[in-house]
Amino acid sequence: MIDDPGARNKISSFLPSSTSPRRPVFVKGGTVLTMDPHNTILPADVLLVDGRILALAPYMTAPADADIIDAEGCWVLPGFVQTHVHLCQTLWRNLADGLPLMDWLRRWTWPMEAAHDEATIRASTRLGAAELLLSGTTTVNDMGTVRHTEVVIRNALEIGLRGVFSKVLMDLHDGPAALRENPDEALTQALTLAERCRTSDARLRFALAPRFALSSSMHMLERIALAARSTGLLVHTHCAETAEEVRLTTDRFGCGPIDLFEQMGLLGPNLLLAHCVHITPREIERLAEASVSVLHCPTSNLKLGSGIAPVPAMLAAGVRVSLGADGAPCNNNLDAFQEMRTAALVQKALLGPTAMPARTVLRMATIAGATALGLDGEIGSVEKGKRGDLLVLDRRRVHCVPADDPANAIVHSMGRDNVRHVLADGRVVVRDGHLMTADVSEIVREAEDAAERLKRNAKLPKD
Ligand SMILES: [Zn+2]
Repeated sequence: MIDDPGARNKISSFLPSSTSPRRPVFVKGGTVLTMDPHNTILPADVLLVDGRILALAPYMTAPADADIIDAEGCWVLPGFVQTHVHLCQTLWRNLADGLPLMDWLRRWTWPMEAAHDEATIRASTRLGAAELLLSGTTTVNDMGTVRHTEVVIRNALEIGLRGVFSKVLMDLHDGPAALRENPDEALTQALTLAERCRTSDARLRFALAPRFALSSSMHMLERIALAARSTGLLVHTHCAETAEEVRLTTDRFGCGPIDLFEQMGLLGPNLLLAHCVHITPREIERLAEASVSVLHCPTSNLKLGSGIAPVPAMLAAGVRVSLGADGAPCNNNLDAFQEMRTAALVQKALLGPTAMPARTVLRMATIAGATALGLDGEIGSVEKGKRGDLLVLDRRRVHCVPADDPANAIVHSMGRDNVRHVLADGRVVVRDGHLMTADVSEIVREAEDAAERLKRNAKLPKD
């Protein structure tokens, strides 16, 4: 992947390696929603050793040195997997309201991304990562900006997330010059980061990420397609989010984005397409035939007025659909519960009450997301041998009892308040609702300061 044979020696880890032995963790007395192929639900303790699920059975005896996690009265399920987020954008949450996508990009998102320095992107990542873990998401597919990707990766890992990360690749657009890169140099940087991810931490993967077809030259898209084919890396991009984007893509390239990606040889299981709101039935069939994954972001699509993705038609055709919050400025939070509920409700309003059953939606937020990212052998369900990414939900709260149907309760009556404990890679990252890996008040203070500085430094349009 890297031409320079000495490059491997220069590759450094994102975090110093830990030499301290890990205590086993024993999750005791819960009811496990495995999300296995049969949706098996069973009362069971879960034993995690060296980050992996070693055993799953009722009434086990905990090892003497285990850290005991009380899951009595709780459901234990896999941590949520959000397949489309932008941690670098968390600092302009609650700004940029009332704008369609292209104005939202030009007036806020591109100027703010261009103004990021290492300290502001660190603050943005830590804020987003803390919110994600506290609301039960343990894995993300994150699209970064053009610079400071290593800062995003380091801080996300440090707080406890697992993820697929990417440096955005864009060379042709009407945004700030600071976001316009030489395509060959940008791709070399991305491939170097990909190699660093591959060799430094098992929780890391890397994707090539053209922001969308419109922000790239034909040359850059061709280079990305070539690199994707030779490396097998995932390709993560936005696609058919708005009608205007499809029209502008057609004006520039002579075809819509899905045709364009097909011409590039990109349609395949490694292609991750965020949104796909404006696609035709024939395009849905082609995505299914090619095993392309669609990353559905319902709240973002509603808030930016982009439309409603035809998810039931995609699922019926066999397209793999997973969920993401997108960036905090178009949502305005990173909460998987909100995405699940919105994904279900918008389709019911359009198609009737049987559309998007809660069980389907819960699978989209867990195992389908893991499968899209090529991580279903490691995460996405609670099964022996998988990594210990677990979410412990308190089901005895006034807003959700009685809770006889777990999927229905989780999608339609629960929320982040129900998150009691979260384990990521076998480590307790949230205990009794408190983040264990960082000081939340410090994260908030740092984010408020950084957001003010970022706004001052960004060249935002005056009107
Ligand atoms: Zn996005």
